[in-house]
Amino acid sequence: MIELLQTYATESSAAASASDGIFAGVSTGGSMVLMIVIAIVGYVVQARLQSVFTKYSKVLSPGGMTGAELAERMLHDHGIYNVKVTHVKGHLTDHFNPATMTVNLSDSVYSSRSVAAAAVACHECGHAVQHAVGYAPIKLRSQLVPIVNFSSQLATWVILIGIAIMAATSSAVVCWIGIGLVAMSAVFSIVTLPVEYNASDRALEWLQRSGTLQGSEIEGARVSLRWAARTYLVAALSAIATILYYISIINSRRD
Ligand SMILES: [Zn+2]
Repeated sequence: MIELLQTYATESSAAASASDGIFAGVSTGGSMVLMIVIAIVGYVVQARLQSVFTKYSKVLSPGGMTGAELAERMLHDHGIYNVKVTHVKGHLTDHFNPATMTVNLSDSVYSSRSVAAAAVACHECGHAVQHAVGYAPIKLRSQLVPIVNFSSQLATWVILIGIAIMAATSSAVVCWIGIGLVAMSAVFSIVTLPVEYNASDRALEWLQRSGTLQGSEIEGARVSLRWAARTYLVAALSAIATILYYISIINSRRD
């Protein structure tokens, strides 16, 4: 994927030195191809995540504790007593909510005694631990939430208005403001990466240290969390590709 981005960058800069018409054609086409490739990779990663979770949902954790029991144990082991473990509907809907101080575990995790459930439950507790120790990226991500909600609602409209203004006045200023708003979503998805990887590291470290999982079970948990993290990686790449796509549209309209 990084190679693709590099190819795109090389393609764009090479095209920039060529005529304006070629630049418009290549950059829009290139960014479209990049978006399609990322969408396909995203589909493959989702399918793989589902199959890995199905596999490790059938492997029972040796201690025989449920996801909810393990979550409470991990929280208490970290001296956290103000976070409640609750049940939430759905599949892979597990999340930590700092506003309500709850670790919300889904149907397939809350009362399951599987390796996959242990991995997910402890990953969510990893976020609670991040919150408790003041891990900087999770604080930054929380601060970005209202900004991203606001900017993502405005972005498309600002870009559309910007394109109309550019057609009338050939000034691209409003368009670039729109792209700046789109970029906030990309910043958010990039900040999400260390938050997610770190929560998984904390989960695996505790699962191993506490003796909850060993050998092939810890490997199963590691594989499950790795595929879950890859969905966030795809989301970040997709957000970057979206910016490139918008830039290419502006470049093509400016010609
Ligand atoms: Zn997470």
